[in-house]
Amino acid sequence: MSQTISQDKVVGIHYTVKSAEGQVLDQSQEGQPLHFIFGRGMLIKGLENALEGKAVGDKFVTDVAPADAYGERHDGLIQTVPRHLFGDNEVAVGMQFRASTSAGEQSVMIIDVNDNEVTVDGNHPLAGVALNFDVEVVEVRDADPSELDHGHVHVDGHHHHE
Ligand code: ZN
Repeated sequence: MSQTISQDKVVGIHYTVKSAEGQVLDQSQEGQPLHFIFGRGMLIKGLENALEGKAVGDKFVTDVAPADAYGERHDGLIQTVPRHLFGDNEVAVGMQFRASTSAGEQSVMIIDVNDNEVTVDGNHPLAGVALNFDVEVVEVRDADPSELDHGHVHVDGHHHHE
């Protein structure tokens, strides 16, 4: 009996994710499928929805709207702050760092710098982007109690903790 994907199953997939324009944004590596425990918010919502009920060997393509992926972009998450707040730290466009904001601890990226001000963007880099997934399911099994306890998959019986 082949198992189908449902809450707390361990799932392995190969995937390629592209933007609507066809640019490859991310993909699993040859021989190294992405493993996760299903139904625990480890994947974006749109992909979890598409995976539910699938079995090993299933291949499919699915489009995911921004709201079911990394959310819409919010202009309010773009802020310009005085450069002196960065002290002697290097500032350059593209640098990412953690910052305390009114919305809590967030990852922000510097998108503009001039002599007096630094503009940072707290949107996820993929906010507002519609995604296209090409997926092959390569593993579906029950999770071990230790995996459920730890909240992550122990691949091939090895116990990797980062
Ligand atoms: Zn563990």
